Amino acid sequence: MSEDVVSYEVVERVAWVRLNRPEYRNAQNSAMTYALDAAFQRAVDDDDVAVIVLAGNGDHFCAGHDIGTPGRDVDQSFDRKAVIWWDHVDKEGGDLRFARESEVYLGMCRRWREIPKPMIAAVHGACIAGGLMLAWSCDFIVASDDAFFSDPVVRMGIPGVEYFAHPWVMNPRAAKEFLFTGDRFSATRAQELGMVNQVVSRAELESSVSAMAGRIAQMPRFGLTLTKKAINQAEDLQGLRAGMDSVFGLHHFAHAHNAEVSTDSLGGLDAKSMAAKNKEAGA
Ligand code: ZN
Repeated sequence: MSEDVVSYEVVERVAWVRLNRPEYRNAQNSAMTYALDAAFQRAVDDDDVAVIVLAGNGDHFCAGHDIGTPGRDVDQSFDRKAVIWWDHVDKEGGDLRFARESEVYLGMCRRWREIPKPMIAAVHGACIAGGLMLAWSCDFIVASDDAFFSDPVVRMGIPGVEYFAHPWVMNPRAAKEFLFTGDRFSATRAQELGMVNQVVSRAELESSVSAMAGRIAQMPRFGLTLTKKAINQAEDLQGLRAGMDSVFGLHHFAHAHNAEVSTDSLGGLDAKSMAAKNKEAGA
């Protein structure tokens, strides 16, 4: 299964981890999350890998969490290697949701952020909601000029995706605009806000990322690790970690509120109705 939804390739000391559900715009199901975890572990354990790149196969980087494909697997258990939480499958209500999202969303993204090797996200096409969490877990983002970013989950009454880095990866006012409107931010806008490091043409995306990864790979491995930790610690001192924890509580309050007053924890929206609402709003 993991072979299917994520591909793995090492080229000149760079591990290319690619989301591989192109027929569903790389919608992120749990199978993909656990496969990503396994791929990153492989890259971390391979002493010949200096840099990890996260990219997407097909026309888009990632359309978000899987809330509507035939491969949606929220009710399944997975072989869990790193203990973050108990299995959600036989639980109820808030216990189920909190367990699942603590592990597959917030917990894993946090662990990936702390992977001791540099990670570059190569983003093209759509990078929506759950896709943001994957790109933001990486150390930085190189985007092609057709890339766009959005987090429309406020339409579900939920204050942004589980990995709430919005005010830190861009400024707080931009984060409010991003969330309040649900609008797409272009690669250029994202670069102006400091969320994206470089914007290149679609044709040059892989070669640009390869070139940058190659330059980084020349640095001493342990020096890079310590530098990554130093900057992550600075971000945490700016409130990122504690902020995320507090917003995770608001996020789950919103899920619970939806479950109480609506048909389900997503406010009755699925991938299709969400896309229709985005379109209606001109986002
Ligand atoms: Zn959630």
